[in-house]
Amino acid sequence: MTLSQPYDVLIAGAGPAGLALARALAGTRLRIGIIDRAPAETLAAPPCDGREIALTHRSIATLQRLGAWQRLDPAEIAPLREARVLNGGQSFALSFAGPNPGDRLGSLVSNQQIRRALFEAIDGQAGLTVLAGASIRGVRTDLDCATVTLDDGRSLSARLLVGADSRFSFVRQQLEIGAQINPLGRSMLVARVAHAAAHRGGATEWFGHGQTIAMLPLADGRTSSAVLTLPSAAIDALAALDCTALGNEFTRRFRARLGPMQVLEGPHVYPLTTTYAHRFVTRRAALIGDAAVGMHPVTAHGFNLGLQGAAKLAELIAQAAQNGQDIAANMLLRRYQAAHRLASAPLYASTNLLVRLYTDDGPVARVARPLALRAAARLPMVRAAITRRLMQQ
Ligand SMILES: Cc1cc2nc3c(=O)[nH]c(=O)nc-3n(C[C@H](O)[C@H](O)[C@H](O)COP(=O)(O)OP(=O)(O)OC[C@H]3O[C@@H](n4cnc5c(N)ncnc54)[C@H](O)[C@@H]3O)c2cc1C
Repeated sequence: MTLSQPYDVLIAGAGPAGLALARALAGTRLRIGIIDRAPAETLAAPPCDGREIALTHRSIATLQRLGAWQRLDPAEIAPLREARVLNGGQSFALSFAGPNPGDRLGSLVSNQQIRRALFEAIDGQAGLTVLAGASIRGVRTDLDCATVTLDDGRSLSARLLVGADSRFSFVRQQLEIGAQINPLGRSMLVARVAHAAAHRGGATEWFGHGQTIAMLPLADGRTSSAVLTLPSAAIDALAALDCTALGNEFTRRFRARLGPMQVLEGPHVYPLTTTYAHRFVTRRAALIGDAAVGMHPVTAHGFNLGLQGAAKLAELIAQAAQNGQDIAANMLLRRYQAAHRLASAPLYASTNLLVRLYTDDGPVARVARPLALRAAARLPMVRAAITRRLMQQ
């Protein structure tokens, strides 16, 4: 076993959350290592994974500060001007839009492009080492440091270890941090589709009986990301269809609201499991991104929250480093945990409630659904609060 130079911060996982943290620590003079099992070429040019990320204004501002937003091709950024929620066969829609015509609620950017831009942003960052193509096989922490063992036998130590290695985080397990893990028995199928009618920047989330289907507007006015949620066996059967048959299936399931659909890319399948770690910190270690909170994608909060948490943790680490204090002090880690639980717990709980209400086809839920939508529509404060949250700077 080779013991390398100690790091100040080791980040496990170079997904969007881990990369954002690494980049947010630029200028701190800390020695940072970021580890990912994917090879460097894949991190630099990630493959398309079908995820279109609805970014809030706050996330866009953070990505700008991190120097990643500027690296996106403007043609890949789709404005989100309106969001509509429909229930079953009813024509009533709950709709969210900004206060002024043409306002953006947020923007949609593919996960592939976000990852590429963030990786480009850390390229050449002083004090940062990318340990690509390396899987973590073991983690240990004591009073002075955290030690990570890689599959090639290397052993790395750091004053602080940050787990950013997905909702099924191996680091979280190794740190013996438990989590609520809820497999939902449903999967999400996503594909890029072209359609005859223009979407005009409007996203639609339609909770039909037995299915949830969303259409997310992409930069080209007649292209959307189609997102279909069904029990996992039904999604697997749809994923086996050829492109023409899948396009016809989307047209039928969306009742041709946008005209005939043609699959351009995908499908990609995501079995749905939500997770929430019992703690976000422990001795000399913290969890960020999906490793801390694995949201249901329906309310599009996962990465937005991950980015917020990474920014908070980076701010506390940078302050401590500047003041010559321990960057993994108990108090510092607890402050991060308190802030991130406060930001994430209500969203996690309300998203799960929404999912239950709209995926349960029992009689109570069927009656409650339209009532909930109409109640929200009649309460301008509720709509204004949701819109404000989306548009928050
Ligand atoms: C269909 C879909 C749509 C979504 N839409 C939105 C949206 O609109 N808005 C939004 O905010 N969020 C959305 N999300 C959520 C968002 O994609 C996630 O929250 C985000 O990608 C999580 O980033 P992360 O860096 O925490 O984890 P990940 O992206 O999972 O990255 C983890 C990294 O860790 C590495 N890794 C894992 N284990 C190891 C190991 N043992 N050793 C070394 N490396 C390891 C992996 O290779 C990977 O690179 C969506 C998710 C899905 C599935």
